Amino acid sequence: MYAPPVQRLVTELGKLPGIGARTAQRLAFHLLRADDDEALALADAIREVTEKVGLCEVCFNLAEGPRCQLCEDPRRDTGLICVVEEPGDVIPIERTHEYRGRYHVLGGALSPIDGVEPEDLKLAQLYDRVTNGVREVILATNPTTTGEATALHVAAALHQRAPDVAVTRLASGLPVGGDLEYADEVTLGRAFTGRRAV
Ligand SMILES: [Zn+2]
Repeated sequence: MYAPPVQRLVTELGKLPGIGARTAQRLAFHLLRADDDEALALADAIREVTEKVGLCEVCFNLAEGPRCQLCEDPRRDTGLICVVEEPGDVIPIERTHEYRGRYHVLGGALSPIDGVEPEDLKLAQLYDRVTNGVREVILATNPTTTGEATALHVAAALHQRAPDVAVTRLASGLPVGGDLEYADEVTLGRAFTGRRAV
């Protein structure tokens, strides 16, 4: 239907989450109409993150270099680890200004139905980290079925491996079934201060 390069662009845009065929087509035509500079700036930005941004070797947050900015920051409390599903979940928690510890990004949530098993997440790396003077692990996985299942699994494993480490879960009040990413900072801040032992 389109010239092959245009079709290729439509196909690639259509692979993005939340972008259907029609939106992919509209975005492609927008880029074709835009100044070359504008379109190429997008291409360059994509190339740059792909080449320069990887995962932090300690917490698996996004990092430019071997460690992320939060792991490099000496003011962050190393005795606290907040466990989240995705790198995108770190941002809303940082915005609450309620938390001064470190993070651990699992890279997803347990979901046997989708084939996500414990070994597919950064769980072993988390268990290794808690042996190093950690006082509390805060489970901030999403308030969804898979997020709750993941929190229960991690809590049980931590109680067994590191009985002296407190394990807490964010207080209820977050929209059930929602993503942390979309929670407003006041609600999320309250959920943080009201966290309870699990
Ligand atoms: Zn890090």
